Amino acid sequence: MTLTGCSPDRLDYDGSADRVEGLGPGLRVAMWVRGCRRRCPGCIAPELWDPGRPTPLDEVVAELRGPLRSSPRLTVTGGEPFLQAEALSSLIDGLRRELPVEVLVYSGFLLEELRAGPDPWQQLLARTDILVDGPYREDEPNTMAWRGSDNQRVHLLTTRVEHLAPLSTAPMPEPRPMAVRMLSPLSYRLVGIPRRGDLLALRQILSGRGLEVVNRRE
Ligand code: SF4
Repeated sequence: MTLTGCSPDRLDYDGSADRVEGLGPGLRVAMWVRGCRRRCPGCIAPELWDPGRPTPLDEVVAELRGPLRSSPRLTVTGGEPFLQAEALSSLIDGLRRELPVEVLVYSGFLLEELRAGPDPWQQLLARTDILVDGPYREDEPNTMAWRGSDNQRVHLLTTRVEHLAPLSTAPMPEPRPMAVRMLSPLSYRLVGIPRRGDLLALRQILSGRGLEVVNRRE
């Protein structure tokens, strides 16, 4: 069963980036999934709310395998990963057949909601080492490591990550680790968690240089 209508051997996937800092502990491989019904005001990735074209899982495994060999830490974000829980569980199993991948998942659901949810949610939770839960709230500060807003909670779900407790309650490092990755010649992704107002400031700087920033959903 999938909650998006996607086949469990396909993932509505929007690419990955390696050597990512700030979306969990250490240098990580981050991947983005599409589809989210929550529509949080101020969401950093509204272009990922609508479904796209699902990708066969073996293609996603092939893309992630190389970067994960260098840094076996995967961050799954989006979009709402738990709407594709079955496909993501299969993806993690496929990766872990070859590498001891530590997995962090961002979800707009609370852990309590996920634990009361359908079987595929339990399966993905069972494969998740670190869960950052709760919706993004633009009326909350964003000062804490790994969180988009400070209402979000970090859950260390497995023993392999319990040593990270001090890091998980630390403030966000300043300056913030941010990067811009090129997706195509006219499409870029901002990777990291900006301070409030940083995106507007970036738009203004680029606009002053004759470059218009257009969100893919605008
Ligand atoms: S849950 Fe995440 S992806 Fe979905 S709207 Fe909220 S911030 Fe955006």
